[in-house]
Amino acid sequence: MNTLTNEIEHYLELLFPINRSVTGSGNRATLSTLQEVAPLDIIEYPSGSPVFDWVIPNEWRVREAWIKDAAGKTIVDFKWCNLHLVSYSEAVSGLFGISELRRHLHSHRFLPDAIPYRTTYYKRDWGFCVNSTQMESLEAADGPLEVLIDSDFNPKGSLTIGELLIPGELDKEILVSTYLCHPSLANDNLSGMLMTAFLAREVISWDQPRHSYRFIWVPETIGAISYCAMNESAMKRIQSGLVVTSVGGPGPFGYKQTFDPNHSVNSLIEEVFAEENIDFITYPFDMRGSDERQYSSQGFRINVASLTKDKYYEYPYYHTSLDNLDYVKAEYIVESLRLHQEVLARLDTERTYRSLISNCEAMLSRHGLYPDTGGARVPEADEPTELDLILWLLWMCDGRSGTHGIARTLDVSVDRVHEILTTMEENLLVERLA
Ligand code: ZN
Repeated sequence: MNTLTNEIEHYLELLFPINRSVTGSGNRATLSTLQEVAPLDIIEYPSGSPVFDWVIPNEWRVREAWIKDAAGKTIVDFKWCNLHLVSYSEAVSGLFGISELRRHLHSHRFLPDAIPYRTTYYKRDWGFCVNSTQMESLEAADGPLEVLIDSDFNPKGSLTIGELLIPGELDKEILVSTYLCHPSLANDNLSGMLMTAFLAREVISWDQPRHSYRFIWVPETIGAISYCAMNESAMKRIQSGLVVTSVGGPGPFGYKQTFDPNHSVNSLIEEVFAEENIDFITYPFDMRGSDERQYSSQGFRINVASLTKDKYYEYPYYHTSLDNLDYVKAEYIVESLRLHQEVLARLDTERTYRSLISNCEAMLSRHGLYPDTGGARVPEADEPTELDLILWLLWMCDGRSGTHGIARTLDVSVDRVHEILTTMEENLLVERLA
């Protein structure tokens, strides 16, 4: 095993057992461990802060949680596996018959050995997640079951995020976001939060990035919303990005497209897969998923893709205790890391142009780019002519769209697009912004 694989394995072992949630000490512990990999800042947003349509929840603290039978034998204990307790469970102490307890118990429909992962962030409730053997023991218990959840919600607490800003030559930024709210679940999303730290370390080592980079580790949904609210103007300047999740499973590579399927990020990911001879699954943009839901919302409209290895929702162990370190391997994360590095390296060289004539058409003859005799031209069906491409490029160069995406839309090579844009720049039709 090489050093990088060893290093990733070391952090997988270290971080896997931590009880993470949308808030809490587990998230702080995770981020402070990730600081050993990349120099991220740990930032706290106070509970109770309004963030767009949401409010940052009180910080959940849990000390112990278990169920014992009438003989005092422990059947379920949070300290054996943090998935046993529904995340954000409120405090409970008392005796329950199985008929009362049943609505607070969750088991997996198809995987008898698995403990499912459940949360109750926004509804005060409590519950335990169990495997089928534990469920049978609870069902067969003689007499009442004793339940204890020693937890509380601290209104003076906070939601913790990690942030690392890497300045480049340009102030145009690329976002790399991952989520850290899942407890002991390896592919979704310990693999993602860890790989993101190594990806940040790689970008720091570049000689001089052209773009600036914004790496963030946030609890999914509420963390991304809070981050957008707390950094609204900066987030509105983001060019494009990646949401890193599910990068360490044994299953196939794939990628979830950005909301604009012709965006450069999609073209670059496909280019990297093709060059590496990797078969991949394309998942079109969908309203379900991860934090691209927030970043792509109307107010931000950032094109963000996810390059995955064994995508969330798709593998049988998703959101169960079987998504563990027997399933996820450091080698798979290293493979994903290399692909992400390649995508970012290409995205970094991506060119952006802005048309200098946006009010009506340009008078191309004034710029020496129109055929001498008018009237002879009939648009051709198959190959676009240079004139066609000039007109399309004037139409599409809006200062935001990258040239890989433009080439993909026009179905011509990016080299051809660059060649024509260079001529157009010399003839004062466009300016290069990045
Ligand atoms: Zn998940």
